[in-house]
Amino acid sequence: MGSVQIVATILAAAITAVAVGLAVRAVMKMVAVIRLGQPAPERFTDKGARTKTMLVETAGHTRMLKWSVVGAAHWFVMVGFIVLSLLVLEAYFEVVTPGGGLPIIGHWTIFALATELIGILGLVGIVVLMAIRLRNRPNRPGNRSRFTGSTMWQGYFVEWVVLLVLIFGFVIRGFKVATDHFEYPVWATPLSHAVGAALPAWTAGVSVAALIKIVISMTWLIVISLNVTMGVAWHRFLAFPNIFFKREPAKPAGSGLGALRPMMSEGKPLDFEEADPESDQFGVAQVEQFSWKGLLDFSTCTECGRCQSQCPAWNTGKPLSPKLLVLSLRDHAYAKAPYLLAGGGKDLTGEEKATAAQLAHLDVLALAEADRPLIGTAEEGGVIDPDVLWSCTTCGACVEQCPVDIEHVDHIVDMRRYQVLIESSFPSEAGVMLRNLENKGNPWGAPQNTREDWTKGLDFEVPRVGEVDDFEYLFWVGCAGAFEDRAKKTTRAVATLLNEAGVKFAILGEGETCSGDPARRIGNEFVFRMLAQQNVETLNEAFEGREKAKRKIVATCPHCFNTLGNEYGQLGGEFEVVHHSQLLAHLVSTGKLTPVQPVDGGVTYHDPCYLGRHNRVFAAPREVLGDAIQGELTEMPRNSERSFCCGAGGARMWMEEKIGKRINVDRVEEAMATGAKTVAVGCPFCSTMLNDGVNGKGAGEQVEVIDVASVLLRSVKPEAAPGERKTAPVAG
Ligand code: SF4
Ligand code: SF4
Repeated sequence: MGSVQIVATILAAAITAVAVGLAVRAVMKMVAVIRLGQPAPERFTDKGARTKTMLVETAGHTRMLKWSVVGAAHWFVMVGFIVLSLLVLEAYFEVVTPGGGLPIIGHWTIFALATELIGILGLVGIVVLMAIRLRNRPNRPGNRSRFTGSTMWQGYFVEWVVLLVLIFGFVIRGFKVATDHFEYPVWATPLSHAVGAALPAWTAGVSVAALIKIVISMTWLIVISLNVTMGVAWHRFLAFPNIFFKREPAKPAGSGLGALRPMMSEGKPLDFEEADPESDQFGVAQVEQFSWKGLLDFSTCTECGRCQSQCPAWNTGKPLSPKLLVLSLRDHAYAKAPYLLAGGGKDLTGEEKATAAQLAHLDVLALAEADRPLIGTAEEGGVIDPDVLWSCTTCGACVEQCPVDIEHVDHIVDMRRYQVLIESSFPSEAGVMLRNLENKGNPWGAPQNTREDWTKGLDFEVPRVGEVDDFEYLFWVGCAGAFEDRAKKTTRAVATLLNEAGVKFAILGEGETCSGDPARRIGNEFVFRMLAQQNVETLNEAFEGREKAKRKIVATCPHCFNTLGNEYGQLGGEFEVVHHSQLLAHLVSTGKLTPVQPVDGGVTYHDPCYLGRHNRVFAAPREVLGDAIQGELTEMPRNSERSFCCGAGGARMWMEEKIGKRINVDRVEEAMATGAKTVAVGCPFCSTMLNDGVNGKGAGEQVEVIDVASVLLRSVKPEAAPGERKTAPVAG
C-alpha cells in the first residue's frame, strides 16, 4: 500500500464514520417522530398484497411512468442508485489498492456489463431530470412551476451528487483501464475503456478517484442526516414503507381512493354511541393526532409537486397546494417533536401533560412551535390556514398523482372533522346545508313528501320497493335527482331507459334520505353516521334475504355511488352498486337498448371525480356516448385520471368560492375550447357547476351541459327527451 492509498484509506474511513454516525442518529430521530403518531393497526393486514403492491409500484414506477419522460429518467436513476450503491462499496476496496474490487461478483463480467449499462442510463436519466428541474424552476419568468414552494437547493444538491458519483464511477474504471488493473472486456464496458483511453497511466488515480467518490457519497449522507426533512433524498428509503403501508393495498396503482377512513381514536373506529370528546379523539387538532402513517406520509414527500400541478384549487389561485400542505405539516411535526418527545402535549381536555421540569431544557423554538394552532390564520400563527383547509374539493387528483402514495384527502378530512365537530368552525354558508341534512334529510331542505315528484308525467309507472318484490335493481335516486330540476331530467331519462330496456327496478321513494356524502366530506361524521345508518337499515330491509350479488343498486350520482358502494360497508351495508352509465352501457351492448338517431354537434365528456378517479369508471360513460353519437368523442386535454374537478366535491357545492378564479369556469373554458356543442356529464353536481360556468360565460345558447343518460335517450327515444336544450345539436 503506497502513501496515497494510506492517506486515502484514513480519510475515507474518517468521513464514513462521521456520516454513518449521523445517519444512525437521523434514522432514530425520524423513527421517534413517526412513532409519535396514533396507532394504525389496519396497516399491518394483508402483507402479501402490500408486498406485491410495493414491488409493482416501485419497480414498475406505475405513477411516474404516466409522466413518461420524467418517469423513465427517474426509473433509471432509481435503479442506478440501488445497483450503483454496490460500486460505492467497491470504492472502499479501490481506495486500498488500485486492483481492488468486490469479492466474488466484482470479478463477474456480467456484473461489469450490468453496472456499465445502468451507469450510462443513469447518467442520461439524471441529466434529463436536471434539465426538467431547471426548465420548471419556479423563478423562471412566466412559469407555473410544480416546484413552486419546493426547497430547490435540495433537489439540485441531490441531482449533482448522483451525477458526480456516476461520473467518478467511470473515472475509477478509466484509471483501472489506463493502469492495466481492469479485468473486463471492451464489449462489456465500452465507456470505461473509452474513458481509460483518455486518462494517464497514474496508478494512484484509482485510489484518489475512489476517495473522491466516497467523499461525495458521504457528504450526501451527512447533509441528509443533518436535514431529516429533506424528503427529496429520504424518499429513496421511505417510499418503500410508505407504499407498503398504503390504505388500499389490494387495489391497483392509482386507485387508493374510494372510502374515506372512518374517524379513529387510539387506532379504532370511533363508536359514536359511546364517544366522549374528553376521552376520545374527534378528528385531528394536533399534528401528533395523525396516525403514524400520516407522519410517515409527511416525511416521505419528495417535493416533486405533481399533486400541486393537478390540484384544481391551486390551479385557480386558491391558497391550497397539497404539496405545501404536506410540507407545512412535516415541518411542524419535526419542529414540535422535541417538545412531544420530552413528554409534552395537550390531553383531550386541552391540559398540558408535561411537568415544568420535563420542559425546562427545551429550546424556545420547540416550545413556540408547540403553541401554534394546527388550523389558524397567519396572524394566529396557524400551521394550516382555514382558507387552505376549506379550499379542497376532495377530488383526489393529488392522491392519484403522488408517486409515493401520500393520502392527502384523509388528512384534510381528519382536520376538517375536528373543526366541524369540536370547534363548529367552518364556512358559515355550509351551515344551512348541514341543518337541512339533519332536519329534512336532504341538503336543499326540500319536503320529504316531494321526493317522488320527478315521476309525475311519465308514461309508465315507477314501482316502489314494497309494492314489488322481484326488482333486479333498486334505483337510488339521490337528493339532487329527486329535488334539483336539471338532475330530475336525468332521473327521468334513466327511468325511461330502464323501462324501455325491460329492466325490473324499484325506488325507495320517501324511504330514501341523503347518502351523507356532503356531511362526511365537510367533516361532520356525526350527521353522516345518522343518515348512513338510516339508509343502511332501509336498504337491508329492502334486500332482505338476498345475497350480496343480488343486492343491486343503480345510482345516478357518483357521490351516492361512492358512498353506498364503498362506505356503507363500514356500517354493515354490503351492496353491489353501479353507476347508471355502467348499466346503460351494458344494456346497449346486450341489445336491450338500441340507439337509432345519432346525436351530433360534437360531444365532449367531463369525468366526475367520484366516478372516475375515485372509482375508476372511465370507459362506461364514454361507451354510452360513443353509442349515442355513433362516432368519436372530443376529449378535453385533462381527461380520465387527470380530469379536472368541477369544483363541487368535498361539500364545496355548498360553500362560496371567494378566492381566485372559479373552478367551474376554468373547466368550462377547457370544454368550450374543444368546440363541442354538448358537454356530457355523469353527475348532478358537475351538471350544476358546468351549467353555471357556461351561463356565466354567456354561452348558454351555444353549449349545452347534459347527462350521458339524456344524450342516450335522445338517440334511443328522441320523442321522450323533449325540451332539454336551447339550441339543437341533435341530428334529424
Ligand atoms: S383533493 Fe383535489 S382539491 Fe383537494 S388538495 Fe387534492 S388535488 Fe387539491
Ligand atoms: S405529496 Fe406526493 S405528489 Fe405531492 S409533492 Fe409530495 S411526493 Fe410529490
